[in-house]
Amino acid sequence: MVKASHLKKVYRAGEIDLEVIKDFSLEINEGEFVSLVGPSGSGKSTVLNMLGCLDTPTSGEIIIDGVSTKAMSRTQRANFRGENIGFIFQSFNLIPVLSVYENIEYPLIMIQNLSENERKSRVLKLLEEVGMLDHKDKTPDKISGGQMQRVAIARALVTNPKIVFADEPTANLDTKTAHMIIDLMKKIQREHQTTFVFATHDEKIVSNVDRLITLVDGEIVADQRMNQ
Ligand code: ADP
Ligand code: MG
Repeated sequence: MVKASHLKKVYRAGEIDLEVIKDFSLEINEGEFVSLVGPSGSGKSTVLNMLGCLDTPTSGEIIIDGVSTKAMSRTQRANFRGENIGFIFQSFNLIPVLSVYENIEYPLIMIQNLSENERKSRVLKLLEEVGMLDHKDKTPDKISGGQMQRVAIARALVTNPKIVFADEPTANLDTKTAHMIIDLMKKIQREHQTTFVFATHDEKIVSNVDRLITLVDGEIVADQRMNQ
């Protein structure tokens, strides 16, 4: 599903070049639920942003579902991302003036050839799956953090992406809510057969994943497959 080869990422900070990722290679199989763990600053967000086509590597190649993103223009990459990739962020990133329903519907407006009925049925189905149907007309300021993340999960899945990246999705939540959100992501991943990559600095909240990848200073130091 994902094949990253020899990724390098250099950030320019003033006069200094910071080589955050030196030589990162990784293959993720279709349908896998992968957890990327590592301390703060180890490069998890940098890696996810590159794999998720939000940012480009300084060098190296990323192939997603057989398609190389290397030669794509900004617009091509944005379209490719919209059609194939879902993203869930630590800070939820919901649009404050839109209702829960409209936030979930939003990515579908970019997709052509989707009838209004199809759009509505997808949004309602996901509202139901994440347990937010009763709150569909509220704006984000009227719901809790855990509920916001439920909405963000629904929004990430509404386009039927091939792969979903979640960057510290539980970092702003209490432990109990964090576990509920992880269980929800797992349930949805199983039901939709979506490939899922989830980054966290908190190894304690990781359980029941297919694969646990540990990152330190931009390098994979462990890659464990778990048998369940
Ligand atoms: P993590 O998500 O694991 O906390 P990051 O990928 O955010 O790690 O950061 C990895 C390293 O890259 C850190 O040392 C961070 O300070 C640095 N970094 C991240 N983004 C930038 C940026 N835009 N400019 C300069 N340095 C950055
Ligand atoms: Mg991060």
